[in-house]
Amino acid sequence: MHTIAHRIGGHDVIGPHDGRGPIFNPATGEQERNVAFANAETVNLAVADSVRAAALWAKSSLSARTEVLFQFRALVASHAQQLAEVVANEHGKVVADGLGEVARGLENVEFACGLGEHLKGSFAHEVATGVDVSSLHAPLGVVVGITPFNFPVMVPLWMAANAIACGNAFLLKPSEKDPSAALLLADLWEQAGLPAGVFNVLHGDRTVVEQLVTHDDVAAISFVGSTPVAKHLYETGTRYGKRVQALGGAKNHMVVLADADVDVAADAAVSAAFGSSGERCMAISVVVCVEPVGDALVEAIASRTQQLVVGPASDPAAQMGPLISREHHAFVDNLVTDAAKSGATLRVDGRTCSVAGHEDGYFFGPTVVDGVTTTMGVYQREVFGPVLSVVRVATFDEAVALINANPYGNGTAIFTRDGGAARTFVNRVTVGMVGVNVPIPVPVASFSFGGWKDSLFGSHHMYGPDGFSFFTRTKVTTTRWPDPATSSVDLGFPRTR
Ligand code: NAD
Repeated sequence: MHTIAHRIGGHDVIGPHDGRGPIFNPATGEQERNVAFANAETVNLAVADSVRAAALWAKSSLSARTEVLFQFRALVASHAQQLAEVVANEHGKVVADGLGEVARGLENVEFACGLGEHLKGSFAHEVATGVDVSSLHAPLGVVVGITPFNFPVMVPLWMAANAIACGNAFLLKPSEKDPSAALLLADLWEQAGLPAGVFNVLHGDRTVVEQLVTHDDVAAISFVGSTPVAKHLYETGTRYGKRVQALGGAKNHMVVLADADVDVAADAAVSAAFGSSGERCMAISVVVCVEPVGDALVEAIASRTQQLVVGPASDPAAQMGPLISREHHAFVDNLVTDAAKSGATLRVDGRTCSVAGHEDGYFFGPTVVDGVTTTMGVYQREVFGPVLSVVRVATFDEAVALINANPYGNGTAIFTRDGGAARTFVNRVTVGMVGVNVPIPVPVASFSFGGWKDSLFGSHHMYGPDGFSFFTRTKVTTTRWPDPATSSVDLGFPRTR
């Protein structure tokens, strides 16, 4: 069985003592290949190569970097279909959804193409007599990206485009569940003219991550994944003196006020809950109905949900694919079963979903659970599956209090025709990304992406202006060209006047 290799310094590498991890096709449940799991020796080899590449790349001119970024942008665009198909095969999402992830990743490359503007420092003339001050943004060195299974193209592009534009070497540790897209990205960087080693790929699981996050030669860690791992890596990395941004999980609520258009809200809720089988950190997990909208809205959501087509990515009619693994399927199934036992109503029950010819695939049908309360596991846990919980509340204030009491704060949305209520909602919710009649408010690349509370550890959001700030450190230079004739000893602390 083929084993996927690391990409170090432009070469496919498998260390003599590396382990192996299985890669499954979630639509069939069959193992199709292995991926190498780096041992300590291979991790050191990759980091050493990244150190070498970082030293050279930091000296590259901004125009040379811009040229590479533009070439890379064109190559990602022309390979969008291939990237989406690679993702579909290992992740299970349908190709149209894969194309969407490529498009959103591409935005970040386009933003990074403007590096000449983003890396401009500042200058102040004559801050004191004969004294000027300037600042510049220097790269950090070797920066590591650790990414989740659910966006194997987009999330690496969130990080790598800006990190490389800033003059760093980027070392990617992709999810061990769907690592192939990372290698296709490495091919495209190489074709774009990026020197070997500036984008390296190292495979493995938590053991590799633990070594990277404490490695002396790693300057920064950019992480996206689940909250417990994000918190642990933030604490460990910062203890080892590294700059860390760690984005975690989510529990996104969509509030529907009584004045909302029920059909518009139902379309949005179904799209945002079940796209990519709910395996998105910005998926809507809970619809909060401010009564009396509940009955009409749940009816409209249920009828749309029943019409969704579940199937493998190879079926062009499929709108929603399988879950990532058998274990995750069992986790989602248990949460739904427990909710039903605790008194919730399964308006649409996806537990028995089976796709003809793919009986061993990890398919879970879209599920709508009404009458959910905050004590149920399906409410408390991040389900990360095609399960939409419905919570009914009596007032707008109750809806806001529910969201603000939740430990996560990634995304939220409100559906209403009342501009004043929407504005109050935006002001009061303790969530990083808010949609007004937009159910998945992922910011465009010229803004930055990030949640609040347990959805993000660190002070920088991801990509956009925060990305350039995260991947550089500022140096400020104060300059004077003194006249020897007026020079004298002065032990007083330098003053600007
Ligand atoms: P995960 O936390 O299991 O894995 C993420 C990465 O960390 C992988 O590369 C994995 O190999 C590594 N890892 C896993 N366990 C580890 C451990 N104990 N120590 C060190 N490294 C470890 O996440 P996942 O299941 O791949 O992805 C789904 C999660 O990611 C969800 O919680 C989702 O909400 C979150 N996510 C968040 C965002 C965001 O922007 N906030 C975006 C996408 C996904």
